[in-house]
Amino acid sequence: MNIPVCEPTIGERERSYVEECMRTGWISSSGKFIERFERKFAEFCGTQYAISCSNGTTALHLAVLAAGIEPGDQVICPDFSIIATSNAILYANATPIFCDVEPVTGNIDPDKIEHLITPRTKAIMVVHMYGCPVKMEKIYSLAEKYNLKIIEDAAEAHGAKYRDRPVGSLGHVAAFSFYANKIISCGEGGMVTTNDKEIADKVKLLRNHAFKEPRFVHDEIGYNYRMTNIQAAIGLAQLERAEELIMKRKILAEIYGAHLCTTPGITIQPRCNYGERVCWMYDIRIDEKQFGMSRDDLMLNLQNNGIETRTFFHPLSCQLANVKKFNGCTFYANSQKLWKEGMYLPSSSHLKSEDIIRVCDTIKSIRGNL
Ligand SMILES: *Cc1c(COP(=O)(O)O)cnc(C)c1O
Repeated sequence: MNIPVCEPTIGERERSYVEECMRTGWISSSGKFIERFERKFAEFCGTQYAISCSNGTTALHLAVLAAGIEPGDQVICPDFSIIATSNAILYANATPIFCDVEPVTGNIDPDKIEHLITPRTKAIMVVHMYGCPVKMEKIYSLAEKYNLKIIEDAAEAHGAKYRDRPVGSLGHVAAFSFYANKIISCGEGGMVTTNDKEIADKVKLLRNHAFKEPRFVHDEIGYNYRMTNIQAAIGLAQLERAEELIMKRKILAEIYGAHLCTTPGITIQPRCNYGERVCWMYDIRIDEKQFGMSRDDLMLNLQNNGIETRTFFHPLSCQLANVKKFNGCTFYANSQKLWKEGMYLPSSSHLKSEDIIRVCDTIKSIRGNL
């Protein structure tokens, strides 16, 4: 039996809510599931507003625009993330300024941000990597000192907390994704959260063609980034059991950690002592010398045993698309090392403990350790 790296966990309630959309004909971008999903998600994040949209990338784009980022502005973001993080900045015709990350969490390193700030810097974008919340203290003081906006990319961290505050409420504006492999999913979908009414109004406007009164008369460029009621139906059903979905991945992480922590050459997923992390994907690092095999060879061997895995993200400053645009790349030591050593293991919420243990045993037997 193959074990996929991640599948959505879909139950009866998801099915019955979608059925209701079909039965009532509310299949487009208005309907009660959208309103209920938005209201409940705002509650979940402890924010005043939650505005749904078509996916995590459009949520980030809307967040950047609504934060007031203009062409030519600079936004500091981690060098280690998915390409959507820097693309959202580029879509706004602003410039991503890449910052190295912490070697253990993969989160932006708060101590390396200040020297990147220029008069053109308008915001810091943080990414809570693999569900681990960013240490915000230093970032708050920089934002205050230089009058910067804080944008959260919380696509991987539904339900995580920095100290006792939920991600999505830590900065001026935040973006979430509900892609198929995310902790809460609706196939494709996104959400922007904020406590700022002006930002919320701007997001609502821009996601819907910038429609104003009189209708069909436009004074700015908007987008069609709307979520459908069908997506929201799935999302609401998922959100109604968010605690269960989060807990299942937490238990998954504990089983992986317990079984892999003594295997030489494997660094297990880091814990968080300044808040509450969640587990998006169970991430490990392979030290080739100590493990006796490269990360890539381990992945290939696992694949041959029916176990699907993924590498970590590629450093953003060295993505060819960005290298061409900015004429070269910055080799940041920590993001380069994560890219070479990191991988994540199967992490579906409904994965059975036998399957998790099979993954661990297979890794150990590949190493010749059983
Ligand atoms: C998944 C993800 C996104 C993009 O979300 P989509 O819904 O796939 O567009 C953005 N940022 C991070 C950190 C992600 O993991």
